Amino acid sequence: MEKSKKYILALDQGTTSSRAILFDQNGRINGEVHREFEQIFPKPGWVEHNPKEIWSTQVSVAAEVIAKTSISASQIAAIGITNQRETTIVWDRQTGEPVYNAIVWQDRRTSAFCDQLKNKGMEKTIREKTGLVIDAYFSATKINWILENVEGIRERAEAGKLCFGTVDSWLVWKLTQGKKHITDVTNASRTMLFNIHTLQWDEDLLSIFGIPDSMLPEVHQSSEVYATTSSNIFASEIPISGIAGDQQAALFGQLCTHVGDVKSTYGTGCFMVMNTGEKPVLSENRLISTIAWQINNKVIYALEGSVFTGGSVIQWLRDGLKILKKAAESEWIAARVPDNGGVYFVPALTGLGAPHWDQQARGTLIGITRGTTEGHIVRAALESIAYQVHDVLRAMEKDTGKKVSKLKVDGGAVANNLLMQFQADILGCEVLRPKVLETTALGAAFLAGLAVGYWSDEKALKELWQPEHIFKPEMNQNQVDSLLVHWTRAIQRSINWETDNGSTL
Ligand code: ADP
Repeated sequence: MEKSKKYILALDQGTTSSRAILFDQNGRINGEVHREFEQIFPKPGWVEHNPKEIWSTQVSVAAEVIAKTSISASQIAAIGITNQRETTIVWDRQTGEPVYNAIVWQDRRTSAFCDQLKNKGMEKTIREKTGLVIDAYFSATKINWILENVEGIRERAEAGKLCFGTVDSWLVWKLTQGKKHITDVTNASRTMLFNIHTLQWDEDLLSIFGIPDSMLPEVHQSSEVYATTSSNIFASEIPISGIAGDQQAALFGQLCTHVGDVKSTYGTGCFMVMNTGEKPVLSENRLISTIAWQINNKVIYALEGSVFTGGSVIQWLRDGLKILKKAAESEWIAARVPDNGGVYFVPALTGLGAPHWDQQARGTLIGITRGTTEGHIVRAALESIAYQVHDVLRAMEKDTGKKVSKLKVDGGAVANNLLMQFQADILGCEVLRPKVLETTALGAAFLAGLAVGYWSDEKALKELWQPEHIFKPEMNQNQVDSLLVHWTRAIQRSINWETDNGSTL
C-alpha cells in the first residue's frame, strides 16, 4: 500500500464479534479483521459479556488490520467507533476494573422491575423525556440492577468512585487509558436516562433509577475530535472522532441524511430506522423515537422499529427443522414454487416486536393443505421477513404522514434476491441494495472522517454510496392486497397464544 495514503479505521463492536475495517477515501474496504467472543448465559434470560474480552478482541483486531494491510498507524487519519447499543458496563474510576460483567441489551433480568414502573404509571413520563418504551432492553434498569445486587457497589457509586458506560464509553476509556469518560448522543439516547429534547441527563430519571450522576459519561456529538489514542496503544496517537450506536451508524452509512430516508437491516432481527429531521416524532404506532446523530451542533432525530425474528427464521429452518443445509439455499428452494400456495408463517418465535409488541405471541404456520411442499414453507418463512418489515414501514408512514418511495437495505439476508424482490413487491417501493454492505462500520468511518476533514462535508459523501442492485415493485396490486389480508389474519391467530387457555373451545 502507498505510504502516503490515509485511511479511516472503523471499530465495529457488535454483539457477537469485534470487527475492525479500514476504509479509504472512496469509502472502499481496504482490510477487515473480526473476532468472536464469549456469550455468557448465567441463567435463563440473562446475557453477559466480559468487558475485558470486549476490549482485548477489539484492540487486537484493530492492530491486526493495520498489520494485515501493511500500513503504519500514522496513515490512519481517524478512528470511528460503532457499537452494540444499551449494553451496560460499570467500572472503577481509579483502577479501570469492571465491577461486574457487561449486561447485554438482550438480557431480560430487569423485566419485573420494568413491569413495576409500568404499573406505577411511569410510561408517559419516560416516553416523553426519552422517546423510549419502558423495557429491560435499555441501560437504566441494568445499571440499577448492578447497584442493587453487587456487594458494596452502591457506597462506591455514591462516593463518585465508579463510572457507567455503554460499550463506546468503555472503548474510549481504554483507548485513552482512562483520560476520557465520554459517550455520544446516540448512545446516550438508548440509556433511558437521557432527555432527547434538552440533550441532558435527566435528574428525575436518575432519581427514579437511583443512579448517582457522578457515574455518567460526558455527552458529545457523534462527529468531533474527542481525544487521541494513548501513545502505547498503536504506534502513533490517532484521533478518535466519530461515535454512534450500530443502527444509527448504519443509517448514516446508508447516507439516509434527508427527512424521510429510511434503511432496514436484515440480520438476526430486522432493524428499521427513519430520519425524521430536526424534531423528534413521538410515535402513535408503538415505535421508538431516538437520536440519529449530532453533527456541527445540529441534532437529527429518527424513528425506529425492531422485528425480533428476521433472518433467524431461516436459521431456525436450517438448525431447528433441518430442512436447509445453509441459509442461502432458502432462495432456490422457495423458487421451486410459483407462490406461497396459501401458506403463511408468523415467526413469533420470541414474541412479536414493533409494531405489534406481543410477548405472548408464538410462531404460527397456517394455511397448510395436502398440496403443501417444503418449497411453500421456505417461501412462507422468507415472505414473513418482508411482511414484518412492511408492518413497521407502514407504522412509520402513519407517524410521519409521508409515503416512503425507497428503502435502503443491508445485513446478511439481503443476499437473498427472491426476498428482496418480494420486499419491493409488498411495499410497492424501490429496494436499494448498496455495493458496500458494511454500512455500520462505514457510518462510523464517515462520522470520524468528517470531523478531521478527511471528507469535507456531507455532500462529499454522496458519491460514495452506490447501489449494487435496485429491486422495483412488479406484482399487481390485487395480489399484494390479498397477500397482506392473509398475513394480517395469520398475525391475529399468533397473538396472545401463550395466555390462551383454550377455554372458548
Ligand atoms: P447478525 O449481524 O444479526 O448476526 P447478519 O447480518 O450476519 O446477522 O445476517 C445473518 C442472518 O441472515 C442469519 O439469521 C441468516 O439466517 C440470514 N441469512 C443469511 N444469508 C441468507 C440468505 N441468503 N437468505 C436468507 N437469509 C439469510
